[in-house]
Order: sequence, then C-alpha cells, then structure tokens
Amino acid sequence: MIDKILNYKNLTKNELANIKQEIMQSNDARLMFLYLYFIDHEHLEDISMKILKTGNLRYIHFLLRSFKVTNYANIIEYILININDAKYLYNILYDVDYLDNNYRLQIINKIITLNDNKYLLKAIYYYFIILNLYDEELFDKMQTLCQSLFKITINKDNYKAILDNLIHQKIVDPKGFSPNYYEGRNGHIPHLIVCHINNTYASAINHFYDEKSQVSSHYVIRQDGHIKQVVSLDNSAYANGTSLNENSDVYYKFASSPLISNVKDNANYFTFSIEYESFDGSLTDKQINSSLKVIKEIIKYLKDKYNYDFPIDKEHIIGHNEVNPLVRTKCPGSNFPYDKIIYQLKS
Ligand SMILES: [Zn+2]
Repeated sequence: MIDKILNYKNLTKNELANIKQEIMQSNDARLMFLYLYFIDHEHLEDISMKILKTGNLRYIHFLLRSFKVTNYANIIEYILININDAKYLYNILYDVDYLDNNYRLQIINKIITLNDNKYLLKAIYYYFIILNLYDEELFDKMQTLCQSLFKITINKDNYKAILDNLIHQKIVDPKGFSPNYYEGRNGHIPHLIVCHINNTYASAINHFYDEKSQVSSHYVIRQDGHIKQVVSLDNSAYANGTSLNENSDVYYKFASSPLISNVKDNANYFTFSIEYESFDGSLTDKQINSSLKVIKEIIKYLKDKYNYDFPIDKEHIIGHNEVNPLVRTKCPGSNFPYDKIIYQLKS
C-alpha cells in the first residue's frame, strides 16, 4: 500500500478511488495520514475528523503539525480532555503554529496542572519569549511558580532575562565522543550535511552522551557560538536514521531530498549532522560563524579523506525535515538561514 501511495502518479483514477476507499475503511490513522500527505490535500477536513476518530495520538499530532486544519478546535478539545502527558501537550503548543491564543493558554494551563517542570518551563519560555506574547493571568501564575520552584522573584522588568537564564542552564562539556554512533560509513562517501535544532544546548548534550537515548550528531553549536564535537567525522551519528522498512515513519522513500530517497540505506551512513541551539531555526551571528567553521572542516575532511569536492548548495546542505518529512517537520524550522550560510561559504 505504501508503494502505491508513493507512486500514485502512475495509478488510474479507478485505482486511486479504490485506494482511498480501502484506506478510509481501514481505521488506520497512519495510512489515512499518508494518503492525505502524499495524494489528497483537498479532503483535509473530512480526513482529519476520521484520523481524530481513530484516537491515534501520534498521527493526531502529525496531522496538526503538517496541515493547517480549519476544524482544529475539535481536535484540541479532545487533546485537552484526554492527554495528561506534559511532553505531548508541549509538542502540540510548539509544533502547531496556527493555534488561537486562547487554546495556547489552555494547553499551558493544563501543563501547569501536571507538575512536569521541564515542559512547563519550555512552554512558558516558548509563549513569552519565542512567540513574544503576554498574558496577565499567566504572568501571575508564572510569578508564583518561579517563587516556589526556583526561589526566584520575577517582575515585568526582569522576567525575560530570568526565563532566558533558566532555560539556557550552563553545563560542563563531557570529555571525548558520545557512545552513540556506528563505526564507519558502511561503504558510503558521506556527501550531505543535515541541519537540526534542539531547544537548548544542555538538553542536546545530555541526550547525546546518554547511551540509552540512542541519539547523537557530529556537532552541537550553542547560541554563543561554542562548538562541541560529539561524533568523529569517520563515524555515523544517530541523527537522521532512515529505515528500509516501509512500515516505519522514517522509511527512506518518504524523504523529500532525492539524494536521500534514491539511496537504499540508512541515511546516517552518508550524512554529517550539525545541531544548533534554537527554538525556531533562527541562528545568532556567532552561531553562523561557527557553522561556517564546522562546514569548512567537513569540506576539508572530505577532500583529504576521499578526494571528494563537496558541492556547496541547498541540495547538499539540507534540513532534517527533508530526510524525515513526516516526523521532523519542524527541524530545523522555517527561519533557518540556509541562504546566508551557503552565500558566506562561497564568498
Ligand atoms: Zn533533527
């Protein structure tokens, strides 16, 4: 079925109608989403309600994140009633950028009731700093929370700086490389640079050095421009995994970059990954400078080791969303300055 969906252009009208009927009767949220994503955006509202009915939270999240669903109020109300997982709620707040302010506040208020400080802090930071919104009632709650959780008194003059400090906690870099990598490149010459974001440097580093997380990237670049190399360029980081199994959400053929979808292997083997500390893809000038430094290092490495001339263009410097468009829709985010980086690399 997946191959039929991906090759829908070669199907007759009848075959397409049959596929649609089969999928809509299946109660399978994943197939409905894939059908919507690859073939039929026109019936967004109908199919959205069908996906909601399945109760499949993963695809309800994917649906809201990938499409501007007009009828989203039904879905958010379902989420507000049924979800008691602060991480899920935060992801909805963060990923669904067309939410009405009233729903944003309802989601944050629900997170407040769940006592998960990590996602509460992220939600508040996202609301007040990244979205640059203000709500008096939420401000009062935040004041009380900061006092009880962190023994910090905030007011209208200092709250931005304090939230910034709280979210960007300082950590000492671990020594050496992460345990999360594959040895070597499985016979490939790595030839793509994939850009990622992580909300904070500390969470990226903590994750990448935790063997249980099974994630890593070659470099992490902090807001202040500090660079930490996490995986040797000789090895494959666990950053852009694609799967050959079509039942996986990271099936390699889903990639929108043909340089990924045409190579029948795990994309980690033939990519380099750079993780930037950012919420929405925008980078500081210092991060851009560090980025140029790191990419030049990669280019030199490829020339020295493989005599390969890395093409400096948008086809070869891509986003995680082009590797895994279903799962990593907002990595590295719409503000990511590809043009600036490519232009400066070339000059
Ligand atoms: Zn990513």
